[in-house]
Amino acid sequence: KVPFTGLPGTNYERTFIAIKPDGTERRLVGEIIGRFEKKGFKLVGIKILHPTPEQAAKHYDDLKSKPFFDGLVKYFSSGAVVCMVWEGKDVVKTGRKLIGETNPALSVPGSIRGDLCIEVGRNIIHGSDSTQSANDEITLWFGETEVTNYESPLEKFIYERK
Ligand code: UDP
Ligand code: MG
Repeated sequence: KVPFTGLPGTNYERTFIAIKPDGTERRLVGEIIGRFEKKGFKLVGIKILHPTPEQAAKHYDDLKSKPFFDGLVKYFSSGAVVCMVWEGKDVVKTGRKLIGETNPALSVPGSIRGDLCIEVGRNIIHGSDSTQSANDEITLWFGETEVTNYESPLEKFIYERK
C-alpha cells in the first residue's frame, strides 16, 4: 500500500496537479487528464472545487512576496479548479516536464503549456515542484480518505519492475 503522499525514501511518488480556472473553463480537463493517463501515471485522487482567496493564498504561500501574488490569488480563486493526486515513478519531476515551463512562451510544443496556452498569468495548470511541496500540497487539498490505492495488472506493462 502506498502511503498518503508517496513511498518515502523511494522515487515512487505522488504529486499534486491542479487544473486552474482557465483550464476548466476552456474545457481542457479531459485533454490534461489524458496526457497524464497516457504517460502511464495513476490517478489516485480527484475533485473539483472553487477555492476561496484564503485557500489560494495558502497554496501559493511561498510566493507571497512576489509582485504578481495578488493577481495570482485572484486568478486561482476565480473559478472551478480540478484538484488531483497522481502517482508513479518520478511523477513529481516528470509531471513538471509534461506541464512545461512556467511561461508558456518558453514551453516546448508537446508540453501541456507549450500546446495549450499563451501567457504566464493564464497558464492553465499547476504541478508540485518538489517532493516536499507535493507532500505539503496533497495534505493541504486532500484528506487521507480522499486519496485511494489500487493495483492494476497493467502495471507490468508500464514498469519493468516496481
Ligand atoms: N506567475 C505569474 N507571473 C510570473 C510568474 C508566475 O503570473 O511572473 C503565476 C503563474 O500562473 C505560475 C504561478 O504564478 O504558474 C506560480 O508561479 P511558479 O513560479 O510557482 O510557477 P509554476 O510552478 O506554476 O510553473
Ligand atoms: Mg510553482
